[in-house]
Amino acid sequence: MLEDFNKTVDDFSELEDTREYVVALQKEILHHQKLYYQDDKPEITDAQFDSLLRQLEALEAKFPELVSPASPTQRVGGFLSEQFEPVEHQVRMYSLDDAMNLDELDAWLSRVVPSLGDTPQFICELKIDGLGIALTYEAGKLVRAATRGDGTTGENVTANVITIDDVPHSIHAKGFDHLLGGREHGRLEVRGEVYMPKSSFVKLNEQADEQGKASFANPRNAASGSLRQKNPKITAQRDLATFIYAIADADILDVHSQSEFLSWLKDAGFDVNPMVKVCNSAKEVHDFCAHALEARSELEYDIDGVVVKVNDFAKQELLGFTARAPRWAIAFKFPPEQKQTLLKDISLQVGRTGTVTPVAELEPVLVAGSTVARATLHNMDEIERKDVRVGDTVIVHKAGDVIPEIVGPVLDKRPKDAQVFKMPKTCPSCGSPIIQEEGEVAYRCVSIDCPAQALERLVHWTSRQALDIEGLGPKNIAALIKEGLLNDIADYYEKLSLEAIAHTKTGILNADGSARTIGAVVAQKIYDEIQASKTKEFWRVIFGLGIRHVGKTVAQDLTRQFPSMQALKDASVEELSSVEGVGEKIAQSIKNFLEVKDNQEVIHRIEAQGVRMQEDEAAVAQESTLEGLSFVLTGSLEGFSRDEAGDALKSLGAKVSSSVSKNTNYLVAGEKAGSKLTKAQDLGVTILNEDDLIEILKGTYKF
Ligand code: NAD
Repeated sequence: MLEDFNKTVDDFSELEDTREYVVALQKEILHHQKLYYQDDKPEITDAQFDSLLRQLEALEAKFPELVSPASPTQRVGGFLSEQFEPVEHQVRMYSLDDAMNLDELDAWLSRVVPSLGDTPQFICELKIDGLGIALTYEAGKLVRAATRGDGTTGENVTANVITIDDVPHSIHAKGFDHLLGGREHGRLEVRGEVYMPKSSFVKLNEQADEQGKASFANPRNAASGSLRQKNPKITAQRDLATFIYAIADADILDVHSQSEFLSWLKDAGFDVNPMVKVCNSAKEVHDFCAHALEARSELEYDIDGVVVKVNDFAKQELLGFTARAPRWAIAFKFPPEQKQTLLKDISLQVGRTGTVTPVAELEPVLVAGSTVARATLHNMDEIERKDVRVGDTVIVHKAGDVIPEIVGPVLDKRPKDAQVFKMPKTCPSCGSPIIQEEGEVAYRCVSIDCPAQALERLVHWTSRQALDIEGLGPKNIAALIKEGLLNDIADYYEKLSLEAIAHTKTGILNADGSARTIGAVVAQKIYDEIQASKTKEFWRVIFGLGIRHVGKTVAQDLTRQFPSMQALKDASVEELSSVEGVGEKIAQSIKNFLEVKDNQEVIHRIEAQGVRMQEDEAAVAQESTLEGLSFVLTGSLEGFSRDEAGDALKSLGAKVSSSVSKNTNYLVAGEKAGSKLTKAQDLGVTILNEDDLIEILKGTYKF
């Protein structure tokens, strides 16, 4: 337990007493390394882990007799999963030493400078919070990808890595201009980081909560868990990306510094992080760190610090390595932004599919740039593991810099009457029993009549990604439910006459105390939108039904192969699971849904009202016009959101990715396009503007 390891070096004076404590501490660290590296399920925060390691380092420095080669301070801390073939690294992969504050950074700078004679050039890079990867190319072709593992042996994840869009399968010939004579057919191993963009991390965790699965603690664990999948198809769906920044053997290239090497990497077609700076003084290094800290929340990916490296390769060689890290680099770690606040209550939220999620109601507090008043506690297991009680002062941070999360209680501040939370036996919304399905961490309300689910389902049907019915926010939908006009999605078409909508009371009061109605103008808009929704694409209907595990992409993939409700109903579980991205579990869930009598009735009723039950034939014919073409969208477009433009392209069969790679055919660049535009230009990708996009969608663009 973490509480058992809160001593300081001064608490120890005798070698023998210390030995016992050190062995226990090493065991504890190894336990957390296993949870973190092998299982992708850390139980403590990085800051808590770092403090354990620091404690061990301090004790080993005081009692050097206790240092052993197996100690976590002497090894690169990785674990290998048995599900991957082990791969021996030809050249070891190292970790990095940390500087936890500017004083420690300065101490490192002042150690390095004298040993090199004069102030060297430094290069500052962002420390990407992902997992280390080594990519081996032979004769320019990608032949192997391996995780860092314990630095000596990694895991063979080639099949998974080739699904990542920005990893080149072969390197540009241009990149070989710098290869030293006669080595064109030789081996080249580059290294970098696989990461998950913050937006994908948020989506993945939302899905996990909804499906009653455990969520990932941060984007780093999500990236690792997604890359280290048995089934590469799952990795392919997880929107991973890379930044490459190192080489195993620099001697085979005619480059002499990290800055030259980064340019070489770009030329060769790798994704290189654009935020780098060559610095000539400690002050410039400090300024870069401050700048990176400020930029952190704006970046699309999480960083946990800045890596400062000696730029010149010959000077790096002079400094060499310790057992676990280079002496020529240091990771300046950002302090975790954590705040303390009061846990006022734990409420329950019932999701669209009945998942009952406990939510922490907090005294509002400012964390990493925004006010946090609520934070999901995910499930009962999480509450018990963290031991948070109502009335506790809790520590709050943002996982991956985005999702508010409770780290744990401040035990010193626990009041005597702090309440242990117990999951109620009945649904807070409808009073039906709550159950926990086998093998799931989530509790669920399984009543079809549960109003909380009804509200969520009705809201989901109108959401932008589903039937895209504007003007009907959750408040109006709740008012229509209260009025008895809405109970299920078919009621949108059967019961919502223009008049009925216009007279619905919103719950907001007028100045004279009378209830405000939705009103004629808004009602007309809502009514028109509802009517227009009948002719929207069929995949929206499938997504809108809210079938468990069927997200937007699955709905799109499914309806491409089964373009009508009848075809879907007729398909067997095997046939459904033959669709790319649809496993047996999803196929079974679709089958189950379509077999429930109540659901069949609702589908029948919406069909009778004219809601589309098959893909438009003209659209099907047009659908494959962009088959095989890969697009990336960047910057802001005037007439569409990027999501809408992406959907429209996908509906014509195009692949839409989030990062530019040499496999990208077209980049659609809107206003304020940034690094993706530069990268596309570097790679010679065709750049399109919004007018071109419109022409493509209209089918009039000349490719
Ligand atoms: P690290 O992640 O702190 O630093 C080394 C790694 O940084 C390298 O291996 C490389 O993969 C990566 N990196 C990212 N950007 C880089 C760049 N531009 N240049 C060079 N390298 C770059 O070290 P580590 O040994 O992999 O892991 C330690 C980290 O893991 C710590 O942050 C620690 O808190 C965390 N950890 C947490 C737990 C837990 O239970 N919470 C357990 C184990 C480890």
